[in-house]
Order: sequence, then C-alpha cells, then structure tokens
Amino acid sequence: MKNKIYIVGMGPGREEMMTGEAAAALERADIIVGYTVYIDLLRKRFPDKELASTPMRREEERCRLCFAEAEKGKRVALVCSGDAGVYGLASLMYEMGKEYPQTELTVVPGVTAACSGAALLGAPLNHDFCVISLSDLLTPWETIEKRLEAAAKGDFAIALYNPSSHKRKDHLKRACDILLRYLEKERACGYVESVGREGERAETCTLGELRDMQVNMFTTVFIGNAGSEIIGGKLITKRGYGAENEGDIAVCGNDRGAQII
Ligand code: SAH
Repeated sequence: MKNKIYIVGMGPGREEMMTGEAAAALERADIIVGYTVYIDLLRKRFPDKELASTPMRREEERCRLCFAEAEKGKRVALVCSGDAGVYGLASLMYEMGKEYPQTELTVVPGVTAACSGAALLGAPLNHDFCVISLSDLLTPWETIEKRLEAAAKGDFAIALYNPSSHKRKDHLKRACDILLRYLEKERACGYVESVGREGERAETCTLGELRDMQVNMFTTVFIGNAGSEIIGGKLITKRGYGAENEGDIAVCGNDRGAQII
C-alpha cells in the first residue's frame, strides 16, 4: 500500500470558490498542511481535523512535513492558494518525491488568481494570454524582463502575479516601463485585489495609470491586448466574433477564413 498525499488548490479564498473535488480531498484527509494564512481560513470549516502550518518562505519544510506525515500512514492534504501548479508547491513535491518512492502524489486543481480575477474584471483573458510573475526571489529579473518584452511583442493579454511585496515596491513600475516601450499608454488594463477575501476589489485603468499605481501582494494585474476595451467598467479582451453578427449564430474570422460556430 502506497502512502498518499493530495496537493490541493483551494482557490482564491472563499469556500464556495473551492472545487467539489478539492473540498472532498480535504474532507478525506487525516491531516491538512499549509501556509499559516490558508490553514487559518480552513480552521472554521474543519474544526476537528489535524492541521499543521508553516510560515511563508518555509516551503521546503512544509513539503518535508507532508512526506513525514504520509510515512506515518496518514492521508495528507497539502493546500496551496489558487492552483497548486501555478507558482505553487506541486513541482517541488514531485522533485522531493524522488526520495519517497513509497508515496503517491495526486494534484487536485483549483481556480487560479488569473481566472478568479478575470471573472471579477469581466473577460480580460478571452484570447491568447501569458501569465508572468514579477517575483525575482526564484527567477532572475533579466528573465522576467525578457518574458515581459516577448509578451508585449506577441500582443498577448497578460496576467501579472506577485506585482509587489514588502521588499519589492517598484516591480510593477519597472514592468510597466518595459511594456511601455512597445504598448501605448492608453492600453486598457485592470487589477484585482484579495479576490474571494475581505477587501475584494477590481478596478480598470490605462497602462499609463497602472505605472504609478501602488498595489499590494494580494493583487493580480491584467494588461489587455491591442483590441482590449473597457466596456461599462469591465476589461474585455475580444474573442473576435463579428459584432455585426448578433443573434444566435456568431461568425468567427481566423486565418483559414470565416467559420460559423
Ligand atoms: N497558486 C496561486 C498563486 C500564488 S503566487 C494561484 O494559483 O492563484 C501569489 C500571487 O498570486 C499574488 O501575489 C497575487 O498576484 C496572486 N493571488 C493569489 N491569491 C489571490 C487573490 N485571492 N486575489 C488576488 N490575487 C491573488
């Protein structure tokens, strides 16, 4: 019999935003392990469950704890915010898992901030898009710059994670300056803060305004593509349906010609 660890994405915060599969995995677990803030969120829902937390930046320790508990025969759930495979601990668990061949890992998907935030803002990612983290803790800043440039040149809509932290207050400004080399300052943008948590808010703005915005570490930022528009206070990246074809049938133009869908 293999030991079992479920790596669970719990969504942005509010219980209803967790998938049924994620809730079931937590329900079945003997012990839930996570970052202190998420464990506190879960304490109300699972008052009788064994819960273990480690502070932020102690990710390796948190993963080790999961394997140690699984080796005792417990069914373990490791929780991450959003999705565990988007700037989460899923990959580190698989790397560490080489040392624990008796332990089986299962990833349970969650709603990542790009998706929950996009829903609040309208439809900012409704065409090809890139997700870029502005955190240079694990990625050199030069790599981040290169990816920002490539996304701008490729006319992708962009979701920016980790736009700020206590130590890195100016990363969003630096990122906007790079994007402004390629994009106009009127480019439609937006940001969301604390989705599914106390203080939730969503705002639209231009790229020029975004440059001077002070955002916090619970913010996800959205940059529209060349065709994005702010409609009724929402940030909309168009899919390409012909506006003249309103009604039940939409005509979608692409490289291969028009297509009825
Ligand atoms: N695994 C997480 C991302 C972790 S990286 C996920 O899939 O969502 C941390 C960054 O995610 C934050 O800096 C912020 O940009 C974004 N984020 C996470 N939760 C958020 C929330 N509730 N509201 C807005 N942004 C959030």
